[in-house]
Amino acid sequence: MQVIRSPAVMTAWAEAERRAGRRIVLVPTMGFFHEGHLSLMRLAAGHGDRVVVSLFVNPAQFGPGEDLAAYPRDFERDRDLAGRSGVDVLFAPDVEDMYPPGFQTTVSVGDLTRHLCGSSRPGHFDGVATVVTRLFGITRADAAVFGEKDFQQLAVIRRLVADLNLGLEIIGHPIVREEDGLAMSSRNTYLDEDERATALCLYESLRLARREVAAGVRDCALLRERVRAHILARPGTEIDYVALVDTATLEPCERVTDTTLLAMAVRINNRVRLIDNGLVLTGT
Ligand code: AMP
Repeated sequence: MQVIRSPAVMTAWAEAERRAGRRIVLVPTMGFFHEGHLSLMRLAAGHGDRVVVSLFVNPAQFGPGEDLAAYPRDFERDRDLAGRSGVDVLFAPDVEDMYPPGFQTTVSVGDLTRHLCGSSRPGHFDGVATVVTRLFGITRADAAVFGEKDFQQLAVIRRLVADLNLGLEIIGHPIVREEDGLAMSSRNTYLDEDERATALCLYESLRLARREVAAGVRDCALLRERVRAHILARPGTEIDYVALVDTATLEPCERVTDTTLLAMAVRINNRVRLIDNGLVLTGT
């Protein structure tokens, strides 16, 4: 596996690969890899001839007071893990190379970014959409893999690729969970033992909602209240949002259908913000 830091070198490599008729699949990440990231890499390997993983903690998608400086980083460990997961290039640019002097373009997706994480993290999705568009350009990717853990991000990327005719295939990967159900996240490393136990309330809530739906509940307001009550029963939790939305529009649903997604963001001890989501009518 090669490590490439320069965008120009990355593009030259990608163009040579494309000229040779090879299909490039990109996995954008912020590093500190866990099994979720590694699953995306393995999926990418099955969808093309070359896998590029980008590792870039993108300042533009963090708001003031968020965890940009504290975000966990371990380049050596990430390089070893990616090297063992079928990755051809680890593209790890510096901030100054991703946002060189004179950079002044923002990619901004509309309605899909107004809900959920978009309303609690203003500017976040502009930062994501801009950096991902630039990564698509630099890596000349034919396809890219994103996790459903960040369901709204996946929807935003699909929208921007369609709206701007970028011509890449976008591939979603289901949420990868710990054995007890906690969705894997680089941010889980912030949790101490008690907080780790508290964090399970997100997955428990999803299971609770699914049980209620299986028992016949279809009223989203009622489901939302039950989920909120379950989360708030745990000391130290604060709800950023709990919403039942349609997977296509991310607009709130009134009645449960097979495309109704429960999406949650919860802060633990006013310190760690975790997200989770899942369909409520199907799955386990
Ligand atoms: P991140 O490094 O957190 O920006 O994540 C990089 C990519 O991995 C994104 O597409 C995430 O949605 C995806 N991802 C992160 N955690 C998980 C998980 N537990 N299951 C599936 N995909 C994930």
